[in-house]
Amino acid sequence: MASSIAQLAQDLRARKISAAELAQAALARAGARSELNAFITLDEATALVAAQRADAALATANAPALAGIPFAHKDIFCTNGIRTTCASRMLENFVPPYDAGVVERLRDVHAVSIGKTNMDEFAMGSSNENSHFGAVKNPWDATRVPGGSSGGSAAAVAAGIVPFATGTDTGGSVRQPAAFCGITGLKPTYGRVSRWGMIAYASSLDCAGVLARSAQDCMYALSAMAGHDPRDATSVARGLDNYDAALSSKLSNMKIGVAREYFGAGVDAGVAAAVRDALAQYERLGATLVDISLPNAHLAIPAYYVIAPAEASSNLARYDGVRYGHRCADPQTLEDLYTRSRGEGFGAEVRRRILVGTYALSAGYYDAYYLRAQRARRVIANDFSEAFKQVDLIAGPTAPTVAFKLGEKTADPLAMYAADVNTVAVNLAGLPAISIPAGFSDGLPVGLQLIAPAFAEGPLLAAAHQFQLATDWHTRSPGA
Ligand code: GLN
Repeated sequence: MASSIAQLAQDLRARKISAAELAQAALARAGARSELNAFITLDEATALVAAQRADAALATANAPALAGIPFAHKDIFCTNGIRTTCASRMLENFVPPYDAGVVERLRDVHAVSIGKTNMDEFAMGSSNENSHFGAVKNPWDATRVPGGSSGGSAAAVAAGIVPFATGTDTGGSVRQPAAFCGITGLKPTYGRVSRWGMIAYASSLDCAGVLARSAQDCMYALSAMAGHDPRDATSVARGLDNYDAALSSKLSNMKIGVAREYFGAGVDAGVAAAVRDALAQYERLGATLVDISLPNAHLAIPAYYVIAPAEASSNLARYDGVRYGHRCADPQTLEDLYTRSRGEGFGAEVRRRILVGTYALSAGYYDAYYLRAQRARRVIANDFSEAFKQVDLIAGPTAPTVAFKLGEKTADPLAMYAADVNTVAVNLAGLPAISIPAGFSDGLPVGLQLIAPAFAEGPLLAAAHQFQLATDWHTRSPGA
C-alpha cells in the first residue's frame, strides 16, 4: 500500500526523503500511468519550486502537517499562471490571473501540487466521459469509468500517483468517484470551504472536497482547506474544529440511521450486501443501527436535475466569446459571435444542461419546474432534520452499482443521472458526507456513504476513521 500522509510527513521530518524527491516521484508515476488520462496538465516546474519552499519550511520547527506532501487539483480550481480548463474546449487556453481560495490555502501549508486532474466538462457528469480531453479510466479495470465528475482526482489517488487530490461535489462528484475507485471521498458542509476561484456549476450546491486513501488523510486536507473566506458570500464565518483530535472519538454511543430508501430497487445486490456487512462491522465497534426513512428521497433526482441545470444555465451565460474563453473564427455579427462561440466551446452534455435550465427558468414554466423543485428541496432537507433528531449519522451505499463500463450509459442521460440517486439529496440539504471503501462486488470496489448534520465533519471523520482502524478495505489497491 502507498504511504499515508502521516507516514510521509514523518519521513519528510526524519530526512528520509525530501519534498523535491516526493514531487519528482509523483510526477514520474503520473507519467508512467498516462493511459489512465487522469491529468489534463502536469506542471513540473511549478511543483519543483513549491517543493523547494516546502523543504525550506520542513527545515524549521513548526512545518504544517501537509508541508512537502504532493497532491493534485481538480482542473476546476483557478491556478494563477497555470491553465485551468474545467475540461472544456471553452476554457482550453484559459490561464487564470489568480489562485482559488482552496489553492491559496494548500499552498500556504506548503503542500505541493503536481498538476490539474481531468474531470467531466464543467463538473457535469457521473462517469468522466464528458471531458474535452477524453475519458478517464478506472485503475481497477481500464474498461470501466472512474465515476465523475472528479474522476481524474479519484483515479490519480487510487493508482497511487498522489496521496490526495481536491475535488468538487455538486451532486456526488467527490463521493461517487471515490466509491468507484475504492478510495475515501469527503464532501464538507456547504459553506465550510471557500468557493472563491472554483469555477461555478450550480452555486447553491457546489462544494470543494477531497479524495484520499483514508479518512485520516482527508482530515489533513480538510484542516488546511476549510475556513472562512470573505470573498465567497456563502462561506461561513465559524471557527474551525480540531478535526485531528476528533478522529479518536469512539463509536460506542453513536446511533447510525440506515435509510431504507437507499437500498431501493436500483441498488445491485452485491453492493447492498457489502454495505450491510460494513454496517455489521459498525455494530461490532459499538454503534447502534436504527432503521430510518427519508420519505422524500425519491424527489432528489428530479429536484436536482432541475435546480442544478437552472443554476448552470445562469452561471454559464458568462462564456460569451467576448471577455475570455473560446471565440469562434471570423464572427459576422454579435449574435453570430455568441452562438458560434458557445456552440463550438461547449460539449453536448453542457449544452443539454443549459437548454434544460433555461427552459425550467422561463416564464410560464418557472412555477411548474423551478419552484416545485425548490419545494422538493425543502422537504428533502426536512427529512434529514427529522432523522437527525433520532440518529447521529445516516448510512447507505454511495452509489447503486459498482463502476460501470465506459460507454455503457453515454447514450442514455437519464440512466447516467440515476447513478447519483443516493448522493444528490445531501447537496440539496447542504450536509457533509463521506464515502469510504466497504468491500467489493464482482471484484470492484463498493463505497459506504455516511451523512452527518451540518458542520459535524469531526464526528463524520471519526466514524470513518474508526471503521478504517478495524478494517483494511481502504488499504487495497489495484494492480498497475
Ligand atoms: N453527476 C452529477 C451531475 O452531473 C453531479 C456532478 C457533481 O457533483 N459535480 O450533475
